[in-house]
Amino acid sequence: MITKKKFVWLNIVWRREYLLAIILLIFLGFFYGWTRRGQPVEAPLLLPSAISGKTIIIDAGHGGTDPGAVGRSGLEEKTITLDLAKRLKRYFSRVGVYVIMTRERDIDYSQMPEAGALTKKRRDLLYRVRMANESKADLLLSIHVNSFPQSIWSGAQCFYDSKTPGSKALAEAIQESLVTRLGPNRRKAKSVDYLILKATTMPSVTVEVGFISNPREEELLADPEYREKLAEAIFYGTAAYLTEQAQGRAAVAVKPAGAGLSAKVYPELTFPALEPGMACLYFATPNNEDLKLTPEMRPLPDGDGGNKLKKARVILEELARGPGEGSALLPCLPGGDWVKNLRLEGEHAVIDVRSELGAFINGGGASEFLAIYSLVNTLAANLDLEAVTILVDGVKSATLGGHFLLDEPVRPRPELGPAGTEAEEF
Ligand SMILES: [Zn+2]
Repeated sequence: MITKKKFVWLNIVWRREYLLAIILLIFLGFFYGWTRRGQPVEAPLLLPSAISGKTIIIDAGHGGTDPGAVGRSGLEEKTITLDLAKRLKRYFSRVGVYVIMTRERDIDYSQMPEAGALTKKRRDLLYRVRMANESKADLLLSIHVNSFPQSIWSGAQCFYDSKTPGSKALAEAIQESLVTRLGPNRRKAKSVDYLILKATTMPSVTVEVGFISNPREEELLADPEYREKLAEAIFYGTAAYLTEQAQGRAAVAVKPAGAGLSAKVYPELTFPALEPGMACLYFATPNNEDLKLTPEMRPLPDGDGGNKLKKARVILEELARGPGEGSALLPCLPGGDWVKNLRLEGEHAVIDVRSELGAFINGGGASEFLAIYSLVNTLAANLDLEAVTILVDGVKSATLGGHFLLDEPVRPRPELGPAGTEAEEF
């Protein structure tokens, strides 16, 4: 009997050590593979103890009734994000990370009864936020695919909420890994107002893995081998962040729940000086480096004549007309009459736009970001506004592309233009 007891005890100890040895071997295997790639990558030494035992929530963007951005071949963002999320889960699971997925099938959460939710997309996003916050995960990785009306842009880019401690460092670590592993890309991690990033309590990042609107990148995103490389790059970037964090080089504090949705401190905003009778219209820059807007100065057809509301309507017509002849700038909004209603209340405007704008934006995060700020910056710069509330077909808290919820008045970001400097605390 004594021998049997001893045997059982030894067996338990042996199994535990065996497991630890396997985890260690897997890490050594990864590290060996990494150093053997022969690329000029300065590989950070990953600390298994900083990574194993963590909980990560992976959010495959869109799903179900919401396809996200759609490529020319019909390839849908929701399919790519789910495939990448599953590949990422495999990488993390191999090294002892517990992974929670917001979805593992082609579904959305627009039917969930989320408190205060007004629109389908809001219900879907708030349910994902609740899953993340209730999971008490250490990190959130939200996977998306980018899109812009013109096909020239390419490159993966990470986004973070500047108010969540750790998020910027996480986004920068993943961005660096994507750039070193996937080739030339001058994009940098950037702060945005995505709901999923603002409302979750842990360090979080949205990885826009590439532009489905770029034919070359669409082809790559359709290729399982390339998706594997993407998942590998995101995994190593996250592992590098966790190692940095364990070594005390990255912020780890967790913000209180809902803090990101409270009032923010905004930097001083300055727009280019305007001559009388001139309009300042914000369009996208054609370079492939970052999401920037450039103001184009143009004389107003009737000068500054008429009242402020009339001027606002003329400016919106000019914006819909797009960049001037011969300009290299790119429109962020379509032509035609997409303004249903416009109201000015002191330094605040309420604009009701047609949901058809969503078709131009095509579910892409970049196109949505630039469309919103092309509109808000243009109105603010010409009419001295502090904020613009955007309704979609009369609905508040709606969305144009599925990433930004228009539930608060949008403050302009003139620093997106080349004249200003990036205000990271925004
Ligand atoms: Zn998306």
